Amino acid sequence: MQTGRIPCVLVVALLAGAAVAAQTQPRKLKIHISVDMEGIAGVVTGEQLGPTGFEYARFREFMTREALAAVTAAKAAGATEIIVADAHGNGQNLLIEQFPNDVRIIRSWPRRLGMVAGIDEQVDAAIFIGYHAGTNNTTGVRAHTFSSATLTRVALNGVNVTEGSWNAAIAGHYNVPVVMMSGDDAAIAEVRKAVGNIEAAETKRNLGFHSANTLTPQASAELIGQRVRAGLGRLPELKPLKVSGPVVIEVSFKNYMAAEILAYLPLFERTDSHSIRFRAKDMAEASMVMNFIGEYRPDITP
Ligand SMILES: [Zn+2]
Repeated sequence: MQTGRIPCVLVVALLAGAAVAAQTQPRKLKIHISVDMEGIAGVVTGEQLGPTGFEYARFREFMTREALAAVTAAKAAGATEIIVADAHGNGQNLLIEQFPNDVRIIRSWPRRLGMVAGIDEQVDAAIFIGYHAGTNNTTGVRAHTFSSATLTRVALNGVNVTEGSWNAAIAGHYNVPVVMMSGDDAAIAEVRKAVGNIEAAETKRNLGFHSANTLTPQASAELIGQRVRAGLGRLPELKPLKVSGPVVIEVSFKNYMAAEILAYLPLFERTDSHSIRFRAKDMAEASMVMNFIGEYRPDITP
C-alpha cells in the first residue's frame, strides 16, 4: 500500500540518522591513573621520596612527567575522562598545574579506597604508575606494602599482596581491569603474577632495596607512553581481577600493640603476637577496614 510506504521510508531515514550519530559521538573512555613514587625512574632512597630529601623537589617533577606521559598517551588512545590519584607519601607530590585542564586530580589522605580513590563502575581502565614491590618480596627498590614503618605483611585469602595486586582487586570489584603498570622489574613481576600479562613499563632494574639500574626520566616517560597506548589497545582482552567475597585479610605489624588492641574488637582475630585476621564481605569493605587500621589514632586532629 502506498500509505504504508511513507512510514517505512521514515524509519529507514531515522535508522540511518541514528547510525551517523553513533559514529560521530565519541565513545566514553574513562581512565583512572594511580601514581606512586618508589617505582619512578631514578628513585632509590628516601632522598627522592619525601620533602626532607635533598632530591625530592626534582623527583616530584619526574613523577609528574611520568604521570603526564600516561595522561597524554591515554588521550591519544581515546580517553574522554581522566582521574589521577596522587598515591604516595603525603598525597601532595604531583605538580598539579602541569596537567591538562580536563584532568581531575585526587590529593591527600585519608580517603575512601586509598591509592585508587575515585575508581568506580564508570571507569573503563586502571593504570598504575611508579608502583613498587611488596614487603615480603626479597627484591625490589623500597619494597613495602602500604606502610614500611608499621606493616610486615598483608595477605588476601592467604596470599601475600603487593599494593599493585591489592589495588587491582579493588579495581576488579568495580569491574575495572588494570591495563598497564610501571615500576621496577620486581614490582612488575609481582603484579603480573596476580593479574596476568598486562602491559608494563620497566623504569629500572632493582639491584637491592636501595639501588637500581635505571632509565633516565625522559626515556622512562617515553616508554610509559608507549605501554599505555598498548595497554588501552588491549582493553577488550584484559579482564578485571575478580576476587569473590567474603575475603579474608591477614595483617602483621612491626610492633605488638596494634595487634593487641585491634583484637578487642570482634571483627579482628589475633593470630599471633604481631598479627590479626579479619573477614570482609568484599574488596571495597576490606579496603575500608585497612584504611581504618592505617589512619585511626585517638589523638587525630582536626
Ligand atoms: Zn606505595
